[in-house]
Amino acid sequence: MPPDRAVALFYELFSGLPRQGPGTAASTRRALELVPDIGPRTRILDIGCGTGAQTLVLANSSPSHIVAVDNHPPFVDALKREVHELGIADRVEACVADMRRLDFTDGSFDLIWCEGAIYNMGLEAGLRDWRRMLQHNGHIALTEVCWRKPEPPAACAAFWNREYPAIRDTQALLDAIGACGYETVGHFPLPASAWWDDYYRPLQDNVTRFRERYHDVQAALELAERCQTEIDIWHAYSEFYGYEFVVLRAG
Ligand code: SAH
Repeated sequence: MPPDRAVALFYELFSGLPRQGPGTAASTRRALELVPDIGPRTRILDIGCGTGAQTLVLANSSPSHIVAVDNHPPFVDALKREVHELGIADRVEACVADMRRLDFTDGSFDLIWCEGAIYNMGLEAGLRDWRRMLQHNGHIALTEVCWRKPEPPAACAAFWNREYPAIRDTQALLDAIGACGYETVGHFPLPASAWWDDYYRPLQDNVTRFRERYHDVQAALELAERCQTEIDIWHAYSEFYGYEFVVLRAG
């Protein structure tokens, strides 16, 4: 199968979802409350915005200017349409950009937001790379998957070691953040509903339909199987891992 076709299948499997990773509107609002002095002059950069679930919560909960970026054009287009329909295009911009090569001016943002996406470049790489775009004393709010209990069962550990070997426990995450030169302002775990309601539940429907549609396309079935395994692992072992929301200040 040509690589382009494989990528198209991947995005098809993830299309039409309310969001593209775990999260809830209440968690976004709670993290925003940890950031001081949010106002009309605050500039927020939302990295890996997907179709903008959290972008719209930020826009509803603040009078700030928001720039939302993602490297998948159809997600950015969906957010642009939504922003126009809501009549907030004067203060919410969406554009296609690679989080590894952002070319915004130094110091151009007060707050960087990144829900369920920094893993794409790695926590440390993101924190070091993005810092220059922040104002002095600027903040970063991010979510990252963490171990919640020691000694996860072998199947669960094997899954995460294969999919995201950088997974660590919350203390190790906070230590890594400190080692990158940031101070943690606050942190809290996302509820289990953050995985299910707007993410795995609709994704499960997509996986089921996708399997039927591509029952004779081996690569599509393998993709669906990989996704199904991720959901099954969550059903079986979700008490052992979860997402942590962390709000940091750059010194
Ligand atoms: N924040 C959204 C999406 C999280 S999924 C939410 O919580 O719903 C991760 C997102 O990161 C996807 O939308 C994916 O397209 C985007 N992404 C992956 N690699 C990227 C890159 N190199 N640059 C920018 N965005 C990227």
